[in-house]
Amino acid sequence: MRWTKSLIPTLRESPAEAEILSHQLLLRAGIIRKLAAGLYNFMPLGMRSLRKVQQIVREEMDRAGALEILMPALQPPEIWQKSGRYDAAGDTLFKVNDHGKREWVLGPTHEEVVTTLAAGEISSYRQLPINLYQIQTKFRDEIRPRFGLMRAREFIMKDAYSFDLNDEASMASYRLMYDTYTKIFRRCGLKAFPVEADAGVMGGKHTHEFVVPADTGECEIAFCDACGYAANVEKADSQVEASYTKDTAAAEAFETPGVKTIEDLSKAPFNIPASQQIKTLIFTAEDKPAILLLRGDYQLNEAKLAGILGTVLFRPATDEEIVALMGAHPGSLGAVGVNGTPIYADLLLQGASGMVTGANKDGQHLRHVDIARDIPSAKFVDIRTVKDGEACPKCGKPLCIRHAIEVGQVFKLGTKYSVALGAVYSDEKGEQKPCVMGCYGIGVTRTLQAIIEQNFDKDGINWPMSVAPYQVCITPLNIAADSEPMKWAEKFYAELTAAGIEVLMDDRDERPGVKFKDSELIGIPLRLAIGEKSLAKGVVELKRRGGDLITLKPEEAVAEVIKLVKEELQKLQ
Ligand code: ATP
Ligand code: MG
Repeated sequence: MRWTKSLIPTLRESPAEAEILSHQLLLRAGIIRKLAAGLYNFMPLGMRSLRKVQQIVREEMDRAGALEILMPALQPPEIWQKSGRYDAAGDTLFKVNDHGKREWVLGPTHEEVVTTLAAGEISSYRQLPINLYQIQTKFRDEIRPRFGLMRAREFIMKDAYSFDLNDEASMASYRLMYDTYTKIFRRCGLKAFPVEADAGVMGGKHTHEFVVPADTGECEIAFCDACGYAANVEKADSQVEASYTKDTAAAEAFETPGVKTIEDLSKAPFNIPASQQIKTLIFTAEDKPAILLLRGDYQLNEAKLAGILGTVLFRPATDEEIVALMGAHPGSLGAVGVNGTPIYADLLLQGASGMVTGANKDGQHLRHVDIARDIPSAKFVDIRTVKDGEACPKCGKPLCIRHAIEVGQVFKLGTKYSVALGAVYSDEKGEQKPCVMGCYGIGVTRTLQAIIEQNFDKDGINWPMSVAPYQVCITPLNIAADSEPMKWAEKFYAELTAAGIEVLMDDRDERPGVKFKDSELIGIPLRLAIGEKSLAKGVVELKRRGGDLITLKPEEAVAEVIKLVKEELQKLQ
């Protein structure tokens, strides 16, 4: 491809809309252009890299025996009602009306569709196992679309669904996808690793996310350098042992005018450390209240709470609901003396004594609270979010918490969808059984941006060879057709293209500095510069993106480029 014939609108400055570096580079390198919040056009360079990521995904999925299909993005809401996710998916589900005012759903994911398909096509144990996948556009009405392709409202996902005879076979399918994901990300030049994750609204218990550590990532992971334990903080455990000194004094009320928060109480004149306070939260789950107790220095983990309540349809109670239930406003709430409402206390509060909590009277708290004595109906559960430095649940060494980007996720789903949507098979004895399912997603467009997030420097993108839009940029420093540099450039272009190398020829009438800067910005892994001065010395200049410049005889250049491209691709196999 000749630069002048392509559309590569590079920008010197970062557009103000881009908050993170990879998003800035996507725009500056002319890879994407915004249409509206969370909606992007892929420009010619972007399309080339996107197709390469898709191709890697496709090759590895095919190699694992999965079958590519394509399902409609527009879906009937009835199947979402059948699976129970019409409500659970909440506001993120895009809904549209047809001319007859009938409602449709724009698929955020395809469990409902694929299970309906399987229900029609699978009838016998002989057809299993089967894994169906597609590379498709998804729609999610994200509350905050941002960071370019990272959190878009329309994005491309590879989603796969396995159907198996039983749990054991389903686990084997899961392992195979887990290994396949490892290969896919490695081939993309991305250092992604699996972490234990929470199943959330998907149902099912066993799940890993594949994440790329990055300060700009929207998920947090807890990991242990010593033993390799790694989990999303939504799921992560830790070994924290709390020791409390027994305080046998009776609970007593004291005045705390104006105190609204744990922090207020930890300051003068009260000076009660957060670790000595009980934080009381009121949640409503399917119209029923629940009281949650945490130690004052910990935060609630909503993913764990969902597991305990058995639903994702919960929310913090409103002030009115709280006053009606507890008789006081937030800031003075406590569970002492409360009956008839389920109370869940975090495990860390087990044995807590000498604690301070709200008195359910505005402007009053209680001290000398002993949880076993004063809140006997509390059920102890794990609902807190782990903190940096706590002991690893596996080996006891300190955990680190870091931000990361989730690029993929594998789930073992069980039979939730097959039961709801009738994907059953008859076994050898003719008995009807639900297929055991797994589902496996990769955010293809998010992965593309994550690759940039991990591969850039001050000059721009540094694409791994496997996903670079072009493998080499030929840069003649004189573009007159009869000039020596251009004659060589044309020869290289023809020979490299014939050898299957993807070449971009910078035939623009620009200063060398501009050409070099642009080829670095768009991240082409190799650059072959041909100038009159160097030709006079009998050489051309080959430079790896971000590496040293080597001079070669022009006759050797083609072979050297082919060798380097092959070597780089080999490394990423
Ligand atoms: P997140 O927690 O980031 O919202 P998710 O867990 O809801 O993502 P999944 O349902 O697991 O996402 O979807 C599979 C993959 O699709 C994710 O691992 C991610 O790479 C990608 N993805 C999800 N939401 C978006 C989005 N809004 N924009 C771009 N990619 C996305
Ligand atoms: Mg996910």
